[in-house]
Amino acid sequence: MKFVDEFRDPAQVRALLARIGRLVDRIGGTRDRPVTIMEICGGHTHAIFRFGLHRLTPEGLEFVHGPGCPVCVLPMARVDDCVELAQRPGVLLTTFGDAVRVPGTRGSLLQAKADGADVRIVYSPLDALELARRTPGREVVFFALGFETTMPATAAAVLQAEREGIANFTLFCNHITVPPPLRALLQDPDMRLDGFVGPGHVSMVIGTEPYRFIAEEFHRPVVVSGFEPADLLQSVAMVLEQIAQGRAAVENQYARVVRPEGNPRALALMDRVFEPRDRFEWRGLGEIDSSGMRMRERYAAFDAERKFGVGYGAGRARPAPESDGCRCGDVVKGAMKPPACPLFGTACTPQSPVGALMVSSEGSCAAYHQYAGLREAAE
Ligand code: SF4
Repeated sequence: MKFVDEFRDPAQVRALLARIGRLVDRIGGTRDRPVTIMEICGGHTHAIFRFGLHRLTPEGLEFVHGPGCPVCVLPMARVDDCVELAQRPGVLLTTFGDAVRVPGTRGSLLQAKADGADVRIVYSPLDALELARRTPGREVVFFALGFETTMPATAAAVLQAEREGIANFTLFCNHITVPPPLRALLQDPDMRLDGFVGPGHVSMVIGTEPYRFIAEEFHRPVVVSGFEPADLLQSVAMVLEQIAQGRAAVENQYARVVRPEGNPRALALMDRVFEPRDRFEWRGLGEIDSSGMRMRERYAAFDAERKFGVGYGAGRARPAPESDGCRCGDVVKGAMKPPACPLFGTACTPQSPVGALMVSSEGSCAAYHQYAGLREAAE
């Protein structure tokens, strides 16, 4: 298949759904004890809802939404640190659109902006660097976040700043990596997952090898998937096929984009600028070893934590509690569905989000709200 229409072809989708139905029957999935497949990536969650795949697949199969949205898993304390940075005199804080609306314990960056902080939305770290070039009298901080997908671009901006000797550009680095939280989820004794649909964009950078531990240590199948309906259904069928055969391996449905070895140039860029932190806090998952990245010592001059003495750079790790009634943590862990949160669709909506999962365009609460709607929430 080469063109997008082929990935949305009704005949193809019907054939895949029939194959999934047969496999679920063969495995013995039922409404009461469904086969559970976690889609790790928030982009997949949105595709599942956008195309209504959760309604088309059999009752004996359940999609569980994973932690694959970087805005959703950003803990309150890091948002607080960022708000504090934005309020420093002389600081011009830049970030992506989703991030400005994520609530911390003392409000969001958007609220800080309304209170007078200079917070600006950019579309790439290079836009932030350009602002630093144009405003040499200001300290331009880029609130960097995202998985391995966005890390190479941030690293490239730092290297460019170094080449040009730009001294008023720093990162508040919140980059995170996908494999460590998956290990944490699999080690949770309450977690019951039968297989994984692996992230397409992250895997474009890291390849398929980093998921091998899921198959070898935890005996769960992983299939890296594209984002069109036929991609996702084919990936689900491949996961089910493995379960039915009693196998667990890492397979690549998205071979038109993802190579087993990933993108060596992007990996080299990341490795040059970033190194793993010992621990990093995730909203809902707590602190996870080696799951967050920080800037290497060589690039300390571009590290906002070191330069301004905030967050981990100031020796601070202070978990902040979630808002009353908020169940973001349980949703991120796949332990409950968004409509089960008492705030869903009432106190918490995309227009007035209480939790990060309702803010981000990849958040599962936002996906339920936008595509499944309140009718499904009430079912
Ligand atoms: S409805 Fe809001 S508060 Fe509840 S889990 Fe979702 S984002 Fe969090």
